[in-house]
Amino acid sequence: MCEGGRFFTEKKQIIRKLADGALAAAVLFGALALAWQGVRGTRKAASVLSVFEEHEPASSVIVIDAGHGGFDGGASGSRTGVREAELNLAVARLLERELVSRGYSVVMTRTDDDAVGETKGADMENRKLIMRDERACVVISIHMNKFTDPTVSGPMVFYMKGSERGKALADCIMYSLCEALGRPQRCSNPEDLFVLRVPEAPSVLVECGFLSNPEDEALLTDPEHQKKLAAGVADGLADYFARLNTGDND
Ligand SMILES: [Zn+2]
Repeated sequence: MCEGGRFFTEKKQIIRKLADGALAAAVLFGALALAWQGVRGTRKAASVLSVFEEHEPASSVIVIDAGHGGFDGGASGSRTGVREAELNLAVARLLERELVSRGYSVVMTRTDDDAVGETKGADMENRKLIMRDERACVVISIHMNKFTDPTVSGPMVFYMKGSERGKALADCIMYSLCEALGRPQRCSNPEDLFVLRVPEAPSVLVECGFLSNPEDEALLTDPEHQKKLAAGVADGLADYFARLNTGDND
């Protein structure tokens, strides 16, 4: 091989080495860029999540809790005597259908008229076990309200006192419910209720209306109104997730 040829070969080898090096550098740079984006993405997600929650959602399961059941009928209608437990289940099942049709994974705490335990204490504990075992990312309890003043009406949404995630979810659902039912907007409410004490997930209790109010009672027993309730809650949940993803928590 002549000098020139060796030079050429060496040059080619150098170029190849440089090319390999450049490729390796590009691969490394790309990997680093991806890793950085991942870190940034994680940081962004973490900063967004930190606004809403102290723990990341453990699963994508929405737990729907139809309040009362069996021996515990809950409130009863002032006009017809209809049991709250029955209406809760009807709305919860419509909500389940609505959420499943929108692609959510749903688990119900009860699917029939029976309670979830033989005593009130066991019933509540078992509901909590379902929420925990399913590693719920959101819990929605469905109830019907009652009050001594029969003129009080309309839906209410409660969240665990001090829970930012719970408040964010409750605000979204309250807004969408009022929209769906064509009612004036009202605020969600903080409370300290056993069913809301779910530290792993934002949890809300939706009081669909007042069984102590005759107009509400008529609406709450109407399947078409029940569908509007389910759609309103589902819209609020979708809004909550959309805000969670975009970091818009206003
Ligand atoms: Zn109730």
